[in-house]
Amino acid sequence: MSRDISSPIAIDGPAASGKGTIARRLATHFGYAYLDTGALYRAVAVLARQAGCDVADEAAAIAAATRLAPDQLDKADLQAELRSAQTGKDASIVAAMPAVRAAILQFQRDFAARSRPGCILDGRDIGTIVCPDAPHKLFITARAEIRAERRWKELVQNDPSLALAEVLDDIEQRDARDQNRAVAPLRQAADALLLDTSNLSIEEAVTAALDLLRQD
Ligand code: C5P
Repeated sequence: MSRDISSPIAIDGPAASGKGTIARRLATHFGYAYLDTGALYRAVAVLARQAGCDVADEAAAIAAATRLAPDQLDKADLQAELRSAQTGKDASIVAAMPAVRAAILQFQRDFAARSRPGCILDGRDIGTIVCPDAPHKLFITARAEIRAERRWKELVQNDPSLALAEVLDDIEQRDARDQNRAVAPLRQAADALLLDTSNLSIEEAVTAALDLLRQD
């Protein structure tokens, strides 16, 4: 374990770019706390659905975001639905709502402020909005076809009839929604270092991320 990198470390990028796996591995390496901020938006979508509401219903999504508490994320009924393709899609719908983002912003900043000896957050707006002063920022991406194939390999285990083309279509729609929304769109912070994982294994990507952080 080496704690030679100052914190927080902000990691952003599109779906299935490898940022979650890399962030988790870096957190273990540095002995830092890790927050998967996408899980917060996913949880809001699941909670709104569990309340019997449509995720596009802004009042229901805001109510779910306001109710979101750290201990809820571990609950089994929430976990069971958190990683599905539908929840990913629904998360990007609630994530475009300014009041949902405002409720989740504080949750994320509180996490960053209380984490000792340091933390890593990954998401879409960590380097631009949540932790704009983070001393280290990475923007991790990969070509859409490669990201779709990675995500398809995960999802097809639970849904053998799932077609790769359907996953690619979902990824492209999600990218467009995340990049074009009015509040906190997905984009690389001006001071973030870019890592393209298209042609890298996970091991190579983690090594490349560590090298970038050490040069930063
Ligand atoms: O990273 P993950 O795929 O779990 O994120 C699900 C969705 O949550 C994203 O497509 C995005 O719309 C939203 N999100 C966000 N800001 C973050 C993290 C996730 O808008 N910081």
